Amino acid sequence: METGGGEDCCVKVAVHVRPLIGDERAQGCKDCVAVVPGKPQVWILQESGNTTVVQIGTHSFTFDHVYGSTGSPSSAMFDECIAPLVDGLFQGYNATVLAYGQTGSGKTYTMGTGFKDGYQTGIIPLVMNVLFSKIETLKDQTEFQLHVSFIEILKEEVRDLLDPPCLNKPDTANGHTGKVTVPGKPPIQIRETSNGVITLAGSTEVSVSSLKEMAACLEQGSLSRATGSTNMNNQSSRSHAIFTITLEQMRKLSPVSLGDSSPNESMNEEYLCAKLHLVDLAGSERAKRTGSDGLRFKEGVHINRGLLALGNVISALGDDKKRKEGVHVPYRDSKLTRLLQDSLGGNSRTVMIACISPADINAEETLNTLKYANRAR
Ligand code: ADP
Ligand code: MG
Repeated sequence: METGGGEDCCVKVAVHVRPLIGDERAQGCKDCVAVVPGKPQVWILQESGNTTVVQIGTHSFTFDHVYGSTGSPSSAMFDECIAPLVDGLFQGYNATVLAYGQTGSGKTYTMGTGFKDGYQTGIIPLVMNVLFSKIETLKDQTEFQLHVSFIEILKEEVRDLLDPPCLNKPDTANGHTGKVTVPGKPPIQIRETSNGVITLAGSTEVSVSSLKEMAACLEQGSLSRATGSTNMNNQSSRSHAIFTITLEQMRKLSPVSLGDSSPNESMNEEYLCAKLHLVDLAGSERAKRTGSDGLRFKEGVHINRGLLALGNVISALGDDKKRKEGVHVPYRDSKLTRLLQDSLGGNSRTVMIACISPADINAEETLNTLKYANRAR
């Protein structure tokens, strides 16, 4: 069914189903997710005695795109969902890409925020390629400046992944997953300028002029990203990682269009600045499922605050009726939504990629993920 409303909606939602992985095969898991060919629909088949079939897609659950583990290559996801955001960046529009899903569902693989797998094909490396090839074709008329920042939000605290002294490893020796406080270094603060631009005071902004330099930032930050072990997956991540590319452009306008009596120099140039946030969200599984000590549980609670606030913000933005009524968008409910405030809603474009595992043991969390993603539409 053609909805035709995709362009007006400021949040697009895509589902990415990864293949069964080695671990799951070894455990004898069955594939319980089916993608309807040519349609943005997912089915989950849950077997329990009698076969119960839960259909996600036809009525209330319809997504903008569904990418299965077979069929559409990942380049289709990039072309359809991400490339338009990179184009928008050159027109001055902010954008956000969010990878959502339970731990192990493929968020890091999809974003390319991990260095073990996915680096070649993940979204961030592809964004970098497209960005630099576009710059190459435009550099005669336009001067570009690129900045990169890479931070993570863990337990409602912002940490800089590009600042070596801040590579705060969990300090398990004294029983805290404590952060190492760097003397004299104030914590990173989210600020809002008078014209609504969100800035991160105190975080490293690296100026980059080549693909290689930008890739080095991705690598450095990915390696310093904190991970902790839980029952789910010992590489599980309980933090939101946000890789931000800021593109500044100074476009030289042709003198012809300005007429003969060309005034001062500055009138001949147009300045644009926009940023793209690429977000590898914390695992969406419920805190109870981590089944660990009080400390971990607390982290779970905090992470849920970010994901909860994000869900509320996105559903407020996606609801035309609510928007017209001027319903309050609760950006201030978490650091995550506060940081993304000027890049979610308004003129900015947002893509949420709901990552799911096809394994039957994950069916419940997969259903939760699809429900969350559905709220975003
Ligand atoms: P998350 O970041 O959501 O915890 P990961 O990205 O680490 O999940 O993925 C979990 C495992 O699944 C990794 O071993 C990863 O290599 C594998 N994986 C994820 N997505 C895919 C995919 N599309 N194709 C093949 N393997 C994948
Ligand atoms: Mg991950």
